[in-house]
Amino acid sequence: MKYALVTGGSRGIGRACCLKLAEAGYYILINYRSNHEEAEKTLGLIREKVGDGELLPFDVSSQEAVEMALNNWMDSHEGSSISVLVNNAGIRKDALVMWMKDEEWNDVINTNLNSFLFVTRTLIKNMLLNKFGRIINIVSLSGLKGLPGQANYSAAKAGLIGATKAMAQEVAKKKVTVNAVAPGFILTDMTKDMDESQLKAMIPMGRFGTPEEVAGIVGFLASEEASYITGAVINVNGGLYT
Ligand code: NAP
Repeated sequence: MKYALVTGGSRGIGRACCLKLAEAGYYILINYRSNHEEAEKTLGLIREKVGDGELLPFDVSSQEAVEMALNNWMDSHEGSSISVLVNNAGIRKDALVMWMKDEEWNDVINTNLNSFLFVTRTLIKNMLLNKFGRIINIVSLSGLKGLPGQANYSAAKAGLIGATKAMAQEVAKKKVTVNAVAPGFILTDMTKDMDESQLKAMIPMGRFGTPEEVAGIVGFLASEEASYITGAVINVNGGLYT
């Protein structure tokens, strides 16, 4: 059995990644924070179409919760290991720096950046022992370009890009790759408060992207074919920024 863990797999980009990796033959561990109904829907879609998986809820921003859930899973699945990790769970709490509350800064850094350390550190040992692993971090155009009103989110995603490049060099010899995918504007719950008709005028392709268009590259980076790609940041943004 090949196992893949997708954090934030209950909705949006994470759900599309779950389906793409299930198509590639992975048994999917669907992480989410609280939206049990949507997570069940993801599992139903996996079973309907192609494969199987299970729900693995925990709060990625809590070191204790991450370690407890993943260590419990590993203890009860001796001999099995998770070979693909998609660090996808994320939140936005936009505010101008002048008005930003400590909580808005800390929640976004903890969920989008510190979660990378908590989850990846728990799973990396087995990938190194097995001499195979794929770590794919979902970052953002915001972390490359900086977007006004998103200093917390831009900082978290820029930090994750740095961590991707550094870790890629640490584990390359053991055939573990670490890459980042940087979406632009994608149609999910995260962007539903944005004015698409106004923003799409800035996008060369003239539209927001779909979660499936992000999952396509995630599926490729997880595959054997992507064995010589590591430390890369791949844009999926309709030509908005390169
Ligand atoms: P979304 O539709 O809002 O879904 C967010 C997912 O993350 C949900 O599954 C949610 O679980 C989970 N999540 C949030 N906080 C969590 C926590 N503390 N612990 C565990 N799970 C948590 O978001 P999306 O648009 O698909 O975004 C996915 C990733 O892509 C994020 O990292 C985001 O920053 C990045 N991204 C998105 C866009 C875009 O335009 N949409 C652009 C660039 C980058 P629940 O369902 O339980 O709440």
